[in-house]
Amino acid sequence: MKLFFTSFSLVFFLFIACKPSQKSSISTVEGKQENREVDLKVRSANQAPKNIIIMIGDGMGLTQTTAAMYVNGNKIAFERFPVVGLHKSYSSDNLVTDSAAGATAFSCGKKTYNGAIGVDSDTVACPTLLENAAALGMPTGLIATSTIVHATPAAFFGHEALRSSYENIALQLADSKVDFFVGGGKKFFDQRESDQRNLINEMEAKGRQVDDYFETPFEQVDIDPLQQFGYFTANDDPLPVAQGRNYLIPATEKALQYLDKRDVADDGFFLMIEGSQIDWGGHANLSEYIISETIEFSNAVDKVLDFAEADEETLVIITADHETGGYAIGYGSKQDSIIGAFTSDYHTGTMIPVYAYGPGSEDFSGIYENTAIYDKLVQYVKSSASRKN
Ligand code: MG
Ligand code: ZN
Repeated sequence: MKLFFTSFSLVFFLFIACKPSQKSSISTVEGKQENREVDLKVRSANQAPKNIIIMIGDGMGLTQTTAAMYVNGNKIAFERFPVVGLHKSYSSDNLVTDSAAGATAFSCGKKTYNGAIGVDSDTVACPTLLENAAALGMPTGLIATSTIVHATPAAFFGHEALRSSYENIALQLADSKVDFFVGGGKKFFDQRESDQRNLINEMEAKGRQVDDYFETPFEQVDIDPLQQFGYFTANDDPLPVAQGRNYLIPATEKALQYLDKRDVADDGFFLMIEGSQIDWGGHANLSEYIISETIEFSNAVDKVLDFAEADEETLVIITADHETGGYAIGYGSKQDSIIGAFTSDYHTGTMIPVYAYGPGSEDFSGIYENTAIYDKLVQYVKSSASRKN
């Protein structure tokens, strides 16, 4: 009897002992699969990226993002990014930066004075990420929902002591190696006050395909990747998205297709996309303006991330130059009706989130200067073009 009980207990013990061990062997298999996936992600994150995309929401602090997320059904594209960091946005002459110094920090890696476009604090021109990429044979692109000569896009190709020198900046774009651009500001090219030049004719004579909203709706433009391309979305500033501006998403999609096709040498491409008017909503202290612009920007981020996920060799960075408005989500706000509170009609000096996806993204966690974004990206621009050698 004792023996029977003992053997029964043993059998019973083995039976129950077996079950968890079976389970654990199954979960080990699953665990191994998970580990393999993690390994793949880590490996691909450690590779140098081929394509570099930086997307700048002008004036898009954490509150702008949060408000847009709630109104957008409690979701925002930035949630798809595995790496989040913070940058210190101050400029060389002010704790509160403007967009010119802010963009020059990203494009050149220099802390410079407010108003500076691609020049250091001694007004000396500094080589930009885009110029580095172009010099290495990478196709380049710029999209903005402001004029294309406005501070943020200008800092990637232009070198001017003063951000308001729009006609000079237009001359520099016409001579630049920017392969693809979409934005407003046609008047600075063909209705110039400082000279009688028609830069649109000049660009076309040099082989660039140039279209505008008067001639052809953006969606109907047939873009040839063998030519440089430019499209003017407005004579001056483009409209707010709430008033019918609708080119950011199709321009993003066409830029990705164009640059990918134009990159016949497989060197990778460089693309900067700006959600320019999030800042303008902040200056106007209008929650609805901020939120509609940020949701559109997030939708463009989704398109870029879809491309990057399929491509697996694209590093995507989302950030802002600064916060605008000292914006807060006030007490009594509901998910679909944000009560905005503002402390300023100008920019503020808070740290700014950086969201990173793709190979190299792990470099962007932590807290660092805004200039570190250039320092990290320029290494990847250089390694991208030499990656095949
Ligand atoms: Mg801007
Ligand atoms: Zn601003």
